[in-house]
Amino acid sequence: MDLISIIGWTAFALVALLGILFVATFASEREKRPAAIALAVTVAALAILGTLLIIDMPFRDWVVPGIIGIVVIAGGVIALPRTRSEALKIVGKRSRVDERDAVFHRFYRIKEGTPQFEAYYEDHPEKREFDENVRAMPGLAQPGSKTYDPVTSGFQTACFDLTENLTRELDGSPAPIEGRKVQIDPAGAAMRIKGFAKYLGAASVGCTRLNPAHVYSNIGRSPGKWGEPIDLSHTHAIAIAIPMAHEMVRLAPDSPTTTETAFEYLEVARIAMVLAGYLNTLGYEARAHVDGNYRVMCVPVAVDAGLGELGRIGLLVTPKMGPRVRLAVVTTDLPLEQDEPITFGVQDFCRICMKCADICPSGSIDKGEKLDHCGVEKWQSQQDTCYRYWRTIGSDCGLCIKVCPYSHPAGSAHDMVRWLIKRNPMARRLALRSDDLLYGRRPAARYPNPDWHEKG
Ligand code: SF4
Ligand code: SF4
Repeated sequence: MDLISIIGWTAFALVALLGILFVATFASEREKRPAAIALAVTVAALAILGTLLIIDMPFRDWVVPGIIGIVVIAGGVIALPRTRSEALKIVGKRSRVDERDAVFHRFYRIKEGTPQFEAYYEDHPEKREFDENVRAMPGLAQPGSKTYDPVTSGFQTACFDLTENLTRELDGSPAPIEGRKVQIDPAGAAMRIKGFAKYLGAASVGCTRLNPAHVYSNIGRSPGKWGEPIDLSHTHAIAIAIPMAHEMVRLAPDSPTTTETAFEYLEVARIAMVLAGYLNTLGYEARAHVDGNYRVMCVPVAVDAGLGELGRIGLLVTPKMGPRVRLAVVTTDLPLEQDEPITFGVQDFCRICMKCADICPSGSIDKGEKLDHCGVEKWQSQQDTCYRYWRTIGSDCGLCIKVCPYSHPAGSAHDMVRWLIKRNPMARRLALRSDDLLYGRRPAARYPNPDWHEKG
């Protein structure tokens, strides 16, 4: 066998292996369209290469190395590290956010006929009519909503209720053990906390100094005296992320996504509460911040702790699970070794991608350029219109999480793409076009609900 044939058949084997990897990945995810496209492309590439190698045609000795050379150069161009990834920019004085400005406060805390209700709408008359319309719609997972089902919706209610019941008392409960302070160095403390968090089921954990700008200024939705200024003296924070199951999220905007949200909030609350209790036993103050009971904003704390970047979607985008995660935070006075914020190309990718913004049925995701919001240059989603859409369909939607290219499940094929787009802007553009081709720019709902989650 001559040298050209050896090179050619080696390339043939590599193309076949790559093709098998992608086809097997898509098939295992039961993604028919991407599997069919990957199979067709692989077969076409192998047919062309095989024909050139088998048939003794003129210029074969130039054409085969020429094609392979072009592919190798193109591969090198998209695999080389080209730029440092851009980080979020702090562009002004950081200001604290009032928890009463978060949309859930208006629908889950203040009740009609109470002084708080009247006080809020006196200060925000522009919100009254919008909110009245939303209140007139059935609640999530409640009878009358579009995705309500008498057999399955109760599971969501059970998870949300249990989370609420378990997490009502998080301030000073439990408290540090009196007179005890186990001495532990910051690096050792961070190492143990991360280990225990992962043991409890966390996918990703990071530690940071607590930036006071990420502490809400006043109590809104969370338990405690409504409107009271929040004074949290903790110096450090632990951010915890757990994944939402891909097979549930891809059913968005239907009811299984709400099931997954409800369950994972419960799970991540369990992890955060155990960690806070653990720190208390060492003699340190600690507070879990979980669904419905936050004193801090989880996303910016998680960004500081190196769990991911803030994306156009307005959520944390993590390197391996994208925005398909749920978060909780523990704050403490135990000094912890800090993790550094990470960048892996999200700011650049989001600028060209826009899949979440394009699919959002309520137009809640920013399609423009990043602007200064509370001192940070970022995209700003509209919570109000997003939540109104949730109430319209009766589930917490999740279409934006479903379509985000970073949300694909872990595995060698997707991980290889993640590795490329982290390094190289051209790879980002190629990956985005491929994602559109394989999954569709606006993927239709095409998966059946699992039979145990079917409407009864
Ligand atoms: S959850 Fe749905 S409505 Fe809300 S921002 Fe995402 S896509 Fe839009
Ligand atoms: S869908 Fe695209 S634009 Fe939206 S967060 Fe994900 S990567 Fe960014």
